[in-house]
This record gives sequence, structure tokens and C-alpha cells, in this order.
Amino acid sequence: MDVREILAKSILNRCGIPGIDFVVNPYIGCRFACKYCYASFMGRFVGKTVADWGEYVYAKMNAPELLRAELPKKLKNKGVGKEIFFSSVTDPYQGMEVKYQLTRACLEELLAFGFSGLVSILTKSNLVLRDIDLFKKLPRVSVGLTVTSTDDGVSRFFETYAPPSSRRIETLTTLNKEGIKTYAFIGPLLPHFVAQEDALDRLMAAIAASGTRDIFVEHLNLSAYIRTRLMAEMKGEEKAIVEKFYSSQSKEYREELDKLVRRLLKKHGLRLILNQTIYHKEFQKEPDKAVRIV
Ligand code: SF4
Repeated sequence: MDVREILAKSILNRCGIPGIDFVVNPYIGCRFACKYCYASFMGRFVGKTVADWGEYVYAKMNAPELLRAELPKKLKNKGVGKEIFFSSVTDPYQGMEVKYQLTRACLEELLAFGFSGLVSILTKSNLVLRDIDLFKKLPRVSVGLTVTSTDDGVSRFFETYAPPSSRRIETLTTLNKEGIKTYAFIGPLLPHFVAQEDALDRLMAAIAASGTRDIFVEHLNLSAYIRTRLMAEMKGEEKAIVEKFYSSQSKEYREELDKLVRRLLKKHGLRLILNQTIYHKEFQKEPDKAVRIV
């Protein structure tokens, strides 16, 4: 594992994700090492390959100081109406955050600045609970947990070093009890759900039972570089399962999944944010330049 402490050039960066104005990525790399991670292209900026994803984490030690300097320059009127997202190409609450506390320090900077826009968080980690005190002080916060299955074996396989799905659902429950606004992110929507409707049914039921009502749903992104890594990681898996991943890219397959999603959302009283399942441009050679952060 390659862990380094580095100095970044900037931290509050514009972002091409619809609805999000700025992103803060306190780390380069992510130890959770999800097999489907779209951020695996980040290695190109630090001399690593897509296959190295999960094996390096660089902590941007000056992230809080940079944020303090950049906030007044980049945000007018204390950022009213703007959204800052943690994080687009790393998990802000991966294990290194226990030691470095960069995400926490950045949130403290937002508080000190008096940021009055929306702070949105997306993580797979129960470590996010550590910062409930800050979430309660910030004027607008929305905390999301990615949950792709209720089966901890499935999450262990695809999201190798992330806390298991069951802990993420528990984390949503705790956040809701604490009065924090939450959302769940079902991304990627695993291709086997088409054949195992009950598995997606259980997942939506678990989200609803946690008290979370708003969810994002995203289809599997099989851009060329993701496909290469995912298929290498799935080598040795049953042929039928691997084929299911390939076929999940067809329009018919997605429409079938979309129908299933809508039916289950209604059944469990969940709201679909953006009112549609998120798609990606498939097989793109270059990942979205807008997420470049270094
Ligand atoms: S937690 Fe997010 S950033 Fe980290 S490896 Fe998984 S998908 Fe990628």
C-alpha cells in the first residue's frame, strides 16, 4: 500500500456533475478499491495505472488551508444557492481519514467561512457518524451512503475494503435518528437484479426501513477503462455472471431494470432524485475532464 502526504495546488474545484457546483477531494486514490470504480483513471495523474486503484492513497495535507484561501475567492455571498460535494473521485471517509481528519478539517473551514449553500456528502463508511456534530452546525447538509446490495458477501466482493452494506444501512438509520438529511445511492445498479428482483426489493426495503426516502439510482458504467479492470477482477467468476455484466449495457436490459426500479420505488415509498436512473456515455475513451482535480 502506497500512502503519501502531499501538497495540492487547489481543493475547491468546479465540477461537471449536474447540479453540483464544486467538489472537494481531500485524497487522491481510495483504499475501498471498488471493482467498478469510475475514479480508477486518477492514477494517470500520479504515475499509477488503473490496475493500481485501491493500492495508493495520497493525503492532501494542505486541503484545509487551501479551502480557507479559496472560499472567499470562488464563492460570492457566502455561497448561497451553491452546492459543494465531498467527494467525486475518492471516499472522504475512507480509513485514512481516521488519521488525517482532512474531511473534518475542511468541513470546519466551511463552518468558519459561514458557507450557506448545500454541503453534500457521499460515502460508504460509518466513519461519517464522527462528524454529526458538524453536520448539525452547518446550515444545509445532505449525507448519502452508497448501498448496492443487502448481501454483505456481494459488497465484500465488489467493494473490497469498504464497510459492509449492512453497516451502511445502520449508518443511514443512525443519521436519520439524529435528524440529518440523508439519501441512499444505489450505484451501480448491479446487473443481476434483473434476474433477482427480490434482491433489489430487499435493498429498497432496507433503505426505506432506515428512514431514508430519497435515492439516486445509477446504471453500471462500463467505460473502456472500467470494463478492463472489472473484467480482470472478475476473472474466474462464473461465465454466466460475467456475461450478465456485458449484456447489462443494452438498451433493452436497462429499460427492464428501469421498470423494475420504478415499481419497487413505488412499493417502498421512495423518491427518485433527478426522477430518472443515471446513465453514462458508454465506452468513452476519456473520462470526463471535469472531474480532474489535481
Ligand atoms: S468508495 Fe467510491 S471512490 Fe472509493 S473505490 Fe469505491 S467507488 Fe471508488
